[in-house]
Amino acid sequence: MKNDKALVVFSGGQDSTTCLFWAKERFAEVEAVTFNYNQRHKLEIECARQISKELGIRHHILDMSLLNQLAPNALTRDEIEVKDGEEGELPSTFVPGRNLLFLSFAGVLASQINAKHIITGVCETDFSGYPDCRDVFIKSLNVTLNLSMDAQFVIHTPLMWLNKAETWKLADELDALDYVREKTLTCYNGIPAGGCGECPACHLRKNGLEEYLKEKGEL
Ligand SMILES: [Zn+2]
Repeated sequence: MKNDKALVVFSGGQDSTTCLFWAKERFAEVEAVTFNYNQRHKLEIECARQISKELGIRHHILDMSLLNQLAPNALTRDEIEVKDGEEGELPSTFVPGRNLLFLSFAGVLASQINAKHIITGVCETDFSGYPDCRDVFIKSLNVTLNLSMDAQFVIHTPLMWLNKAETWKLADELDALDYVREKTLTCYNGIPAGGCGECPACHLRKNGLEEYLKEKGEL
């Protein structure tokens, strides 16, 4: 696969940054795409831009503000509170069809830049109830993209079956643990690295890191 080109769907967060390192190790050429949909924190885009620059990766930013028009939600509107879903209910961060749209646009971009491989950090294990993060959806979309463009894309999901601790472990194996800890932004309150420590994204990230560091004997 060393001769192939890959496009990473990249948000500047822990998961997609880990995917970026994963892709860099596997493919001759890697580019990244970030979707701008009026995230609460423009800092996310800045983070993604900065990381791409530091890693020497060509970075595409696509305007997806249309999404906010279709589905106002907690990630794009300040007045909606970020919280986990009650039992059997989707969390307030859910945007219907978001991954469907993002991955479809990634497919179009991949075809334009001649990238055969598309990498996304979606994960079914920490699955917060997002149907378009499921493995079966990704496989189905892979077939659909190939049929729609008469292409041979391969969608890779290196984190699909990992929990957060295992995702930290993967970053460590890629020699990127400190980089991911210090440079990425996952916090819903827009605070990079360790974050605010209060929001659901910070809890998930922190618990996973502690679990991994304990397992490694460093905590
Ligand atoms: Zn936070």
